[in-house]
Amino acid sequence: MAFKIYNTMTRSKEELVPLDGKHVRMYTCGPTVYNYAHIGNFRAYMFEDLLRRYIKFCGFGVTQVQNLTDVDDKTIRSSIEQGLPLKEYTKTYIDAFFEDLAKLNIEPAEHYPAATDYIDEMISIINVLFEKGYAYQSEDGSVYYSIDKFAEYGKLAHLDREGMQSGARVSQDEYDKDNAADFALWKAYVPEDGDVVWDSPWGRGRPGWHIECSAMSMKLLGDSFDIHTGGVDNIFPHHEDEIAQSEAATGKPYSKYWMHCGYLVVDGKKMSKSLGNFYTLREILDMGYSGREVRYELLSSHYRQSLNFAFKSLDANRAALKRLDEFYATLTEAVGAETAAGTLPGWAANTKAHFAEAMDDDMNISGAMASIFDMVHAGNKAMAETPLSGGEALAVIALWKELDTVLGLLIPVEEEVIPEVNALLEARAVARAEKNWEESDRIRDRLAELGWMVKDTPEGPKLRKR
Ligand SMILES: [Zn+2]
Repeated sequence: MAFKIYNTMTRSKEELVPLDGKHVRMYTCGPTVYNYAHIGNFRAYMFEDLLRRYIKFCGFGVTQVQNLTDVDDKTIRSSIEQGLPLKEYTKTYIDAFFEDLAKLNIEPAEHYPAATDYIDEMISIINVLFEKGYAYQSEDGSVYYSIDKFAEYGKLAHLDREGMQSGARVSQDEYDKDNAADFALWKAYVPEDGDVVWDSPWGRGRPGWHIECSAMSMKLLGDSFDIHTGGVDNIFPHHEDEIAQSEAATGKPYSKYWMHCGYLVVDGKKMSKSLGNFYTLREILDMGYSGREVRYELLSSHYRQSLNFAFKSLDANRAALKRLDEFYATLTEAVGAETAAGTLPGWAANTKAHFAEAMDDDMNISGAMASIFDMVHAGNKAMAETPLSGGEALAVIALWKELDTVLGLLIPVEEEVIPEVNALLEARAVARAEKNWEESDRIRDRLAELGWMVKDTPEGPKLRKR
């Protein structure tokens, strides 16, 4: 069996063969840390999580780099609006990003480089582009990439180069295909940048967005690596520009495969603040949904399809997860005193093969989930007639855990108690010892707001998720 993935570059499914035969090096465009990430962002991070987990399931090693864009048009504008230094402003959202990843049980990448730590690397790539004639400085002092000089410009987005206006320039980080033009590698300082500025051979300024990813990916993964991922909205201009910069600078192929996930819409409509259907992950969790339910929702559509995020399917997920949990609880009970795994019962014997067959086909998640629900259905029926032996139950549990290394949702993770909750619990104990019932009640209400119920037992107070 071979894991086939859809390569945006060739518009076809190809077998994943790492450049070195065994270890996959992948780069993932990370968050622009100017706000809390929304669920559309997490759709992409979830697809990348499934990808890295399945690569490991296939027996390959993985080194994943996910960058943090902590300097660009948006971060600078927002930090100035808030009157905060850039680093201080972005730190809030960097911390929030990691908390959110943990809530969704997304495996950490091996590296999370921040763009502001790689300015020297960016400057050296721009230097090389200058030497090779791909870069030029304009009258305003900014440095641009000349797309005319790179014959393959447009190969990822399949741009029609006829009709492109030679020498036109775009200074913004984001623009569309119709405005394909020379893009900024280094932006000369303007007063709107506040104190966000670095020295360079071309004068004071700051990097463009696209050069950031070229610098961080090649520094940490090498000039050529295996997979570059992102959302479809990254294909142009961001990824096209990354290819142009990197391949022109090194003369080597940049990423072997390009994988992109589709859009996320909410209740059938494009997410937007004006439509009132724009959600951060935090807002959804505050409504009482668990990270696991959201994970299920973000995983359960094929990554290349657009995903319709609907609250009624979140409710359905709760029921589906309950079925999985009940099945797992039955298995756990059947283990009894047994400690050695036996053989798999007939109804579970082919599950792994069916699961892998579906996942091998460009991560056909519906097929993979069907293999699991088929097993649950058959297993429940069989166990209702004849109880499993302890050894058989252990064998199914081992399979369940193995499949969960890919899905990350079959086994519920214990809800993490945040430090504030523990502190409140201690304060409540003190209040009760002092017979300060008013204070004790106030703390109980605060815990309830945070989603926790406290119950006093002979062993002391116990927390339970509401
Ligand atoms: Zn990027």
